[in-house]
Amino acid sequence: MCLVQAIGGNIMTASPISDLNPLLMAADTFLTLRSKDSGERRVTLDHTFFTGYRRTVVQPREVLINISIPFTQQNEYFFGYKQARRREDDIAIVNAGCRVVFQPNSIEVLRLDLAFGGMAPTTVLALDTMKMAPQVSHLFIKLNSSLKPLLKTPLWLMKGLVVLLLHPLAILCLLLK
Ligand SMILES: Cc1cc2nc3c(=O)[nH]c(=O)nc-3n(C[C@H](O)[C@H](O)[C@H](O)COP(=O)(O)OP(=O)(O)OC[C@H]3O[C@@H](n4cnc5c(N)ncnc54)[C@H](O)[C@@H]3O)c2cc1C
Repeated sequence: MCLVQAIGGNIMTASPISDLNPLLMAADTFLTLRSKDSGERRVTLDHTFFTGYRRTVVQPREVLINISIPFTQQNEYFFGYKQARRREDDIAIVNAGCRVVFQPNSIEVLRLDLAFGGMAPTTVLALDTMKMAPQVSHLFIKLNSSLKPLLKTPLWLMKGLVVLLLHPLAILCLLLK
């Protein structure tokens, strides 16, 4: 992103290749909007926020006044991904934000958030894939219990494997298949 631009401008310009929007979307960000006529309201930066190419739910007289990004918690892993033609200073071909929340002391995935840019007229959430979190974690719980006697796989390693499998690049390959 250019150094002189603002986070608010990057959200409000609603570009489908915004580098920030997939990260903000996967992080459960909410925005506070205000207008002289209708006062203040809060909207979540989720799949309903972008209504079309460079369009949002924000009304013409509303101004974005606050952006709230929740802190990551224990057992929560967050990462971003960007593929561009050049290594530095280039518009994304595809970019992504991914959040995985584990049950404490377990490899059970409680929540999975996957947001992608550059694939549609808006930044999108992979809602169907996100719903697959319980199936993915059951697969890993089974794998873990069957591997344990052989490898004594530590929990941290299994968590790493789950996070690796849920990497946006891996999900993207599945989606494009
Ligand atoms: C050459 C070029 C390359 C770029 N490459 C990238 C890139 O690789 N990745 C990337 O993510 N982005 C990229 N951008 C986008 C850029 O980084 C900015 O995010 C974008 O141009 C918005 O600029 P701005 O912050 O100055 O917002 P502005 O131009 O000031 O605003 C953008 C729009 O949002 C509205 N707006 C701004 N603030 C508010 C507010 N508080 N409330 C309501 N409406 C508001 C404005 O009215 C305007 O319509 C690129 C832009 C250019 C020109």
